[in-house]
Amino acid sequence: MSLVGKTAVITGSNSGIGLGIARELAGAGANVVLNSFTDAQEDHDLAEEIAREYGVLARYIKADMSKPDECRALIEQAGACDILVNNAGIQHVAPVEDFAPEKWDAIIAINLSSAFHTTAVALPMMRKAGWGRVVNIASAHGLTASPYKSAYIAAKHGIVGLSKTVALETAEEPITCNAICPGYVLTPLVEAQIPEQMKTHGMDRDTVVREVMLARQPSRQFATVEQIGGTAVFLCSDAAEQITGTTISVDGGWTAM
Ligand code: NAD
Repeated sequence: MSLVGKTAVITGSNSGIGLGIARELAGAGANVVLNSFTDAQEDHDLAEEIAREYGVLARYIKADMSKPDECRALIEQAGACDILVNNAGIQHVAPVEDFAPEKWDAIIAINLSSAFHTTAVALPMMRKAGWGRVVNIASAHGLTASPYKSAYIAAKHGIVGLSKTVALETAEEPITCNAICPGYVLTPLVEAQIPEQMKTHGMDRDTVVREVMLARQPSRQFATVEQIGGTAVFLCSDAAEQITGTTISVDGGWTAM
């Protein structure tokens, strides 16, 4: 699979799944634009490291995905966007009645609205280039629900709906739009949930991982960032040309139950 000459913009890609996807796309030859809301030396170092390792162009652009103007500016600053991966995401867990409204707003902005803004700017660029791929990182929680994650689940169901709509609006063009729905992938976002889960359930780390966090993942194994990245590369391949407006689950059987 060669993505040489293509430029991929991956939102929220200075860690976790986004970084894993950036590495896999760079491994397939794509130039990559990394992003997060910080502007640390390590962010720029990561881009340099990818450029060196894979022999591609790589740079880091700071943009806060909770801010519509910055979402749009990210794509404009990238200058080209053949592959758009909407990955930035945050989580907050609380019952609906205790869910802080500002947390709700932040999750909807970062996990859902950012994808609307970046896609709106990227599509005309893809049309001009005559090729494009939009890959949205949803979740098993884009297809099913769990208690206490109302904003996250609403946002992830929303991004599945956005993916279908964009697919229909581009159906006759050489552009596709799909959503990847990972189950649990061991990243900082999941890591951060473990202490709270241990406290809530009064369990040690291994037990809470196997019996609580992976209780709905029949494989009882976390998916890896490389597997999510590999799925994104597949969606950019010629084999996936007629795959549009759908979801691909990478969830160890979660949504089969
Ligand atoms: P992570 O915390 O490692 O990564 C989240 C990324 O988003 C980071 O790079 C962070 O800097 C960035 N980000 C957060 N707020 C931002 C903002 N305002 N502007 C720009 N960037 C911002 O978490 P992750 O697990 O790698 O999550 C990545 C995506 O995958 C999210 O959309 C998440 O919902 C989804 N996902 C994760 C899992 C999992 O098990 N880890 C499962 C399903 C879906």
